[in-house]
Amino acid sequence: MGFSLTDEQRALRDSVREFAQERIRPRAIELDRNGTYPEDILAELGERRLTGLTIPETYGGRGEGPVELAVVTEELAAALMPVASAVALHLGVAEVIERFGTEAQRERFLPEMATFDTVGALGLSEADAGSDKLRMETTAEREGDVWTLDGHKQWVTNFLDADEVLTYAKTGPDADAPHNVTAFLVPAERFEIEEVWETTGARPVKAVRVRLDDVSVPDDRRVGAVGEGYVNRGDLTTGVNVPARGVGIARAALDDTAAYVSDREQFDQRIGDFQGVRWGVAKMARRVDSARLLTLRAADRAARGDATDRAFPAAKIDATEAAVENANDAMQFHGGVGYTTEHHVERYLRDARLLTLAGGPNELHKDSLADTVLDGADEE
Ligand SMILES: Cc1cc2nc3c(=O)[nH]c(=O)nc-3n(C[C@H](O)[C@H](O)[C@H](O)COP(=O)(O)OP(=O)(O)OC[C@H]3O[C@@H](n4cnc5c(N)ncnc54)[C@H](O)[C@@H]3O)c2cc1C
Repeated sequence: MGFSLTDEQRALRDSVREFAQERIRPRAIELDRNGTYPEDILAELGERRLTGLTIPETYGGRGEGPVELAVVTEELAAALMPVASAVALHLGVAEVIERFGTEAQRERFLPEMATFDTVGALGLSEADAGSDKLRMETTAEREGDVWTLDGHKQWVTNFLDADEVLTYAKTGPDADAPHNVTAFLVPAERFEIEEVWETTGARPVKAVRVRLDDVSVPDDRRVGAVGEGYVNRGDLTTGVNVPARGVGIARAALDDTAAYVSDREQFDQRIGDFQGVRWGVAKMARRVDSARLLTLRAADRAARGDATDRAFPAAKIDATEAAVENANDAMQFHGGVGYTTEHHVERYLRDARLLTLAGGPNELHKDSLADTVLDGADEE
């Protein structure tokens, strides 16, 4: 059993950390305050092909796996979580094309996705299809080689910069569920924007509600077998980005707190010397360690092709709760200035809050985890 990253993984982590801390973090407060899209940052990540991190080298990517994705996502999220979201959702679209698409689709889309010249976004959720995605209203009907899509998608993160939206639509009756949903790559320009949400956090990369009215999509834009789109999602490994984003925020909150309480003095001593603060910092460190270990365990199992039925929900719940709790503690230990936009910690709390409810609310993951225990499907 190994608990260490390889030399290559450490080198990758260190180079992304340097970029994130030098190029993203100094601008994070301003980008968040103004809700400005970090276009140049994402373009630079494209030049470094971090936007092609898990895309195979044959198609111009870096050919890395879920562990490297977790490591890179933690670094990006520690600097500015929405940057990690945009990259991770894009890589999730690429994974679907790579795993379930045709060779022609891989050759057509993946090289430009690797450099972020083609940007992918996920169109799965809808107003009435939140936790229960099979309630989606969007339909696709086939006539010859052309599908006609009707409906809407809600919360499409990074839609405003996207070129291709991986869009899920019902292609069969509810009686066939879950084998009644098919995935399509729909050009972003074919959607009509209905709402650009103002959100509590994740402000620089917007989530959008969009409509599809009689949109024709050729069959060569269908990704995977008819009716298997929803089921195929259960096999994806890029989902580990969600807990990894939690680890990033939890760690950033700890680092900022350690620096602040080591410097700030009250009652003639550093506040970091009060036992209440020391024990709080220790608790924050334990949360980071357990969140990271669980996330890397899930990523490692996915990389080996092992089941993640238990490892993934455990990581998702633990790491996203760690992010919220550490951000909350960080604000407490920063006192009044932590409640201002002069420091990063108030943003950590707002950004962290998304992670326990998106990517499937934690309650759903608790049910999945309980299933693995009560059904006796312990993985180790
Ligand atoms: C900013 C943002 C960005 C997003 N980006 C994307 C994206 O890019 N693409 C995409 O397709 N989707 C995206 N989503 C959608 C996200 O995945 C959904 O919000 C999420 O799946 C939950 O759906 P819902 O919001 O409709 O909540 P609901 O399903 O209405 O649930 C509301 C609450 O009910 C409770 N609940 C629900 N089900 C259960 C259960 N089984 N047991 C116990 N309690 C339960 C939970 O407390 C939950 O938080 C995004 C959401 C947000 C807010």
